[in-house]
Amino acid sequence: MLVGAWDTGQVMTALPLVFDAPKRGLPPRHLADLSVAERAAAVAELGEKPFRAKQLSNHYFSRLTVDPADMTDIPAASRSRLVESLMPTLLTEVRALEADRGATRKTLWRAHDGTLLESVLMRYPDRATLCISSQAGCGMACPFCATGQGGLDRNLSTAEIVDQVRSAAAVMRDGTMPGGPGRLSNIVFMGMGEPLANYKRVVAAVRRITDPAPGGLGIGQRSVTVSTVGLAPAIRKLADEKMQVRLAVSLHTPDDELRDTLVPVNNRWSVDEVLSAARYYADTSGRRVSIEYALIRDINDQPWRAELLAKRLRQHLGQLVHVNVIPLNPTPGSKWDASPKPVEREFVRLVNAGGVACTVRDTRGQDIAAACGQLAAEG
Ligand code: SF4
Repeated sequence: MLVGAWDTGQVMTALPLVFDAPKRGLPPRHLADLSVAERAAAVAELGEKPFRAKQLSNHYFSRLTVDPADMTDIPAASRSRLVESLMPTLLTEVRALEADRGATRKTLWRAHDGTLLESVLMRYPDRATLCISSQAGCGMACPFCATGQGGLDRNLSTAEIVDQVRSAAAVMRDGTMPGGPGRLSNIVFMGMGEPLANYKRVVAAVRRITDPAPGGLGIGQRSVTVSTVGLAPAIRKLADEKMQVRLAVSLHTPDDELRDTLVPVNNRWSVDEVLSAARYYADTSGRRVSIEYALIRDINDQPWRAELLAKRLRQHLGQLVHVNVIPLNPTPGSKWDASPKPVEREFVRLVNAGGVACTVRDTRGQDIAAACGQLAAEG
């Protein structure tokens, strides 16, 4: 999840918690919204041969193209009918900014109704990770996060989520990032929005991203991370989907008193409730849960909090947990700051000494506001 600006003068009371956005503004139906069976049915409804569904899927999910001119295996008349009804343009690139010598690229997208959203592609020596948005804006109102300050604009459709991935996969394949052609290997739902507040569309998007080509984009489920601020019932529901995706919980502090302010949804589901849902997820999926901890100077970086964090995680999750400490990223107007390095080192040391694996997350793209908590999708 995202970590950003807070004006400490802000009064944090009676925060609205929006769990589902109005349906207004969702784009027209797209191939990537549909399962393989639904695609065949949609093609038949248009009076086209069923195998056209597979041809279209092949273009979109395997060849990563949305350009009708590339689809020469489909006769022109059918092509325009199929593309018009099943592949409307969803996202138009407004601009792309680069940092880290081109190894980080933040793209600002405009949806059909003018909604703005962002995704960030990060290339490492051994992998390429795309951070995607699941909502435009966010209704969770975390006070230190740039995205949270603007409120929720709307949910993204399944296809709008998937299309961010398709575009990045094409960028990697075409070698337009330094390092030459490569493969998009990892997806993290850590861009704008709370993924589990857009549950159905996010789960469908995970299936499209991970189904083997040409049904989907063929990225392994174990290479996908779904992040949440802790919607406990939705975490349990996700566990029951029996997928292999990694769960990341943005905890940010082990005590309810501070968390009620830092992550307002904590007023609804306490630290204990969130961690026992996370345990259920770990037990069901057999995967370690990631705990995200944005370290903020003099707010949540005290030694006693590191000790309490380790204690509570050990109680609830045993060895099935790893803590990622994220140095707070600066955002305009923020009065909060990252903890000094010695404080950060001591925090990490104490969590590890408490028996819980803990490391500092490498941050990327600070200078283009692409780091955690900086995504604000300003046009
Ligand atoms: S849930 Fe994530 S994106 Fe939403 S306000 Fe909180 S930190 Fe920001």
